Amino acid sequence: MVKLVLVLGDQLSAYLSALRAANKAEDIVVMAEVEAEATYVKHHPKKIAFIFAAMRKFARALEADGWSVRYTQLDDTQNAGSIIGELLRRMEETGAKEVLATSPGEWRLIEALEDAPLKIQMLEDDRFIASLQEFEAWAEGRKALRMEYFYRDMRRKTGLLMDGDKPVGEKWNFDHENRKAAPKDVSYSGPLPFEPDAITRDVLALVEASFADHFGTLDGFNFATTRDDALKALDHFITHALPRFGDFQDAMLTENKFLYHAVISPYLNAGLLGPLEICQAAEAAYNDGHAPINAVEGFIRQIIGWREYVRGIYFLEGPNYTSRNALDHTRALPALYWGGETKMHCLSKAVAQTREEAYAHHIQRLMVTGNFALLAGIDPEQVHQWYLEVYADAFEWVEAPNTIGMSQFADGGIIASKPYVSSGAYINRMSNYCKSCAYSVKEKTGENACPFNLLYWDFLIRHEDRFANNTRMGNMYRTWNRMHEDHRATVLADAAIFLEKLDAGEAV
Ligand SMILES: Cc1cc2nc3c(=O)[nH]c(=O)nc-3n(C[C@H](O)[C@H](O)[C@H](O)COP(=O)(O)OP(=O)(O)OC[C@H]3O[C@@H](n4cnc5c(N)ncnc54)[C@H](O)[C@@H]3O)c2cc1C
Ligand code: SF4
Repeated sequence: MVKLVLVLGDQLSAYLSALRAANKAEDIVVMAEVEAEATYVKHHPKKIAFIFAAMRKFARALEADGWSVRYTQLDDTQNAGSIIGELLRRMEETGAKEVLATSPGEWRLIEALEDAPLKIQMLEDDRFIASLQEFEAWAEGRKALRMEYFYRDMRRKTGLLMDGDKPVGEKWNFDHENRKAAPKDVSYSGPLPFEPDAITRDVLALVEASFADHFGTLDGFNFATTRDDALKALDHFITHALPRFGDFQDAMLTENKFLYHAVISPYLNAGLLGPLEICQAAEAAYNDGHAPINAVEGFIRQIIGWREYVRGIYFLEGPNYTSRNALDHTRALPALYWGGETKMHCLSKAVAQTREEAYAHHIQRLMVTGNFALLAGIDPEQVHQWYLEVYADAFEWVEAPNTIGMSQFADGGIIASKPYVSSGAYINRMSNYCKSCAYSVKEKTGENACPFNLLYWDFLIRHEDRFANNTRMGNMYRTWNRMHEDHRATVLADAAIFLEKLDAGEAV
């Protein structure tokens, strides 16, 4: 009996469970570029172009490998507009009675498939180090789900950077060596660029014509769109950037968008690369003496630690995770997140780079755009939607826990033991943004004071009941209590003025 094999845009792996379970000789692969997936949030045009181009090339690779593939382009006249619609259409066309699918990375789509009038065999997505059952078993009965302990289990499981049952270098975590301030010169020229070929150029023209109202530019599109090219991009990073990745992992520079970051998350999340092969390549660089332990351990931790951990949390917490709002934040997302004018140089640079590249590195996301949204009390669901739209690597299973949990503390502290908030001092220490800013990072009150300085205290005081007894935050409240009463009143009054201007749509 012929089956359809559904392959989604972030399932571009030859070893996908649905492909492994299918019979190449008779089953039919279904792939479709559909309006519903490209617009349920208005994804960045570079993200849509990356996924469509990579899908088209993956479909060709499957055909070359002997698979029969029914591929629907966005502009095909028969296009049903949704994944379910396409499956129903192809079933009728081929006479297939059953669908083989690998479970999607988003509750929305899982539910749509489960509710569809189709016979579907949903298989586990096993392109991860930990299965969801393993994560559940790890989480069971724990008071706090701290990433660090999960990460150590993943080190033991994979054997990465292990010396028997001990961590290489006698420590599990070298993070304290990875917080150096921004370097004056960056010796790395950034991720490996790829000139668009004919298929990619077709896709770029289609996306340009179809999604002109989405935030972001297609100019300079240079992502890898095949596994071979993604492997080259990985190799380029390991050779030229990994040795300094650790040192400057948290740094930010006005003139440099990528520093020593890998920019491989779109490739990894779409399935062009696998997590283990990436980590093994990094480990080999350590074993060869090419990269130091702080860089390699830090990099591997992001992938087998954070990435696997946030996926576990997303599926453990269930479909309502994205609407959590533990701090009751309700402010609308300000226009500056869409490129509206702002005098805050750090935010304006992070947003401009997001528009250009569909990329910002972790500290720009966490300590600039995320920090500001949290301090200003912006509705976390709107913040979540923004991150899901604007980054090429954004798929809900990985984006939502990072935004709702790590960045906005909207899950009440499942992921973060305290909110990631800082005044301007942190941004000043880790970047050179403040040097070119209209505000003064040194000023604590008044019109010229860095807004992060005002909002930081405003946030802590607004949420004093919740956080004053948090052992990791006691120092912050003690510092506040040591300030002169008049100064404290001025800080809060100036913060209120700033927020009023923000709400009024002024260019703050
Ligand atoms: C608010 C917010 C939203 C985010 N949204 C996403 C998202 O939609 N998709 C996404 O892949 N990452 C997301 N991240 C995590 C992280 O910022 C990106 O993975 C990273 O910036 C990707 O760039 P890179 O490949 O240069 O990463 P590098 O800094 O070079 O790190 C290497 C790899 O580690 C993995 N990684 C690092 N940190 C994390 C993390 N916290 N969670 C999961 N994987 C991680 C990524 O796969 C990344 O490619 C988010 C972080 C924050 C604070
Ligand atoms: S002074 Fe404040 S607003 Fe300006 S760049 Fe520095 S941290 Fe950002």
